[in-house]
Amino acid sequence: MPDQHHAMPAAELLALDRQHVWHPYGPMPGRQEPLVVSSASGVRLRLAEPSQGQDELVDGMSSWWSAIHGYNHPVLNEAVTDQLGRMSHVMFGGLTHEPAVRLAARLVEITPPGLEHVFLADSGSVSVEVAVKMCLQYWRSIGRPGKTRLLTWRGGYHGDTWTPMAVCDPEGGMHELWSGILPRQLFADVPPSGFDAPLDPAYVDHLRSLLSAHADELAAVIVEPVVQGAGGMRFHNPGYLRVLRELCDEYDVLLILDEIATGFGRTGALFAADHAGMTPDVMCLGKSLTGGYLTLAATLCTERVANGISRGAVPVLAHGPTFMGNPLATAVALASIDLLLGQDWQREVKRIEAGLQEGLAPARNLPGVRDVRVLGAIGVVQLTHEVDVAAATRAAVREGVWVRPFRDLIYVMPPFVTGDGDVARICRAVCAAAEEG
Ligand SMILES: *Cc1c(COP(=O)(O)O)cnc(C)c1O
Repeated sequence: MPDQHHAMPAAELLALDRQHVWHPYGPMPGRQEPLVVSSASGVRLRLAEPSQGQDELVDGMSSWWSAIHGYNHPVLNEAVTDQLGRMSHVMFGGLTHEPAVRLAARLVEITPPGLEHVFLADSGSVSVEVAVKMCLQYWRSIGRPGKTRLLTWRGGYHGDTWTPMAVCDPEGGMHELWSGILPRQLFADVPPSGFDAPLDPAYVDHLRSLLSAHADELAAVIVEPVVQGAGGMRFHNPGYLRVLRELCDEYDVLLILDEIATGFGRTGALFAADHAGMTPDVMCLGKSLTGGYLTLAATLCTERVANGISRGAVPVLAHGPTFMGNPLATAVALASIDLLLGQDWQREVKRIEAGLQEGLAPARNLPGVRDVRVLGAIGVVQLTHEVDVAAATRAAVREGVWVRPFRDLIYVMPPFVTGDGDVARICRAVCAAAEEG
């Protein structure tokens, strides 16, 4: 495919980038030169100029969990252009429109039973802000304003705005700079590792003792279900979600599940909560909600939470982002959900899971590798040391694959449309990155 679009030479673009543009979690100017992507299609990113002899990279990251159907998908493109011809945006205060209404109804239909109401937010972090606001306001509204704190387990990640930061892992995370300034929330130990590991009664007791000791001040428990993502790529037994559900009911605390990374099939269930057959009081969705096309997130809640808020002294949820319910984003989200559910997505995720199991197994024997784990379409190689990100990235790019390691982790979550050959290639690249990083 000729690339007529990129008029600016890559060298010039990179110079301006270095001069002016912040990149995620980076200093200014950045430490590492980014790769310039000129277009993307299927599972491939096309580079403006070759790197390590490659002009295309298979994307092992789904652009941070989001591009589950790959790039430039004809069905998703059509959903956006179709909506673009009608209206790209209209305010949501006092107005409504079909894509937002249909999306909300669809989310209620496919998420665990009991989640009935949908607040559309513009990013995952904002949906977590809204979830916490809902819970705090619920208790205030029903006359228990002392319930304002949050409980989570260590090793979590919930976003980068202020409220989510306070429930990210307080150590080793990206936010330790702010300890002492962030609100002090309650932290349980990291949940015992292993999707298939039996429930640890001592850990269940530990959760119970925290909930019983702090029930009067706790508004909500917030956790990532089954997979802790950016806090360390750990998996745990879904049974802990049922334990949390029971404890929250017993001690009158609300339960928020942050499914921003796990939602829409990534772990092998449509939602991670489905592994446990339970319903949270509040659920956050984001990332792959739009198939990676546009930024959109959603906070869903039960009748109980909505009614509590709406019967309070201030009977409104005072939140309303300018771009709430954006028509382009909601239209493409609907199309992405239809595309996902219109195929045998479980088979695709299982197929990728098997490919990752097989392809990453050799990494177990590499020096400097502590652990290799796979769940659904997620593969993780954990090293015994901090990854040399530049060296690991170079090694993967040489194999024609894009990965973005962090801390001691080289991890992948490929688009569900990744073919077996490309899954194998991603695995070879991860092994090479583990060897050299
Ligand atoms: C990415 C992520 C967020 C934050 O979402 P943004 O859209 O980046 O604000 C929150 N929670 C989890 C579990 C995430 O993976």
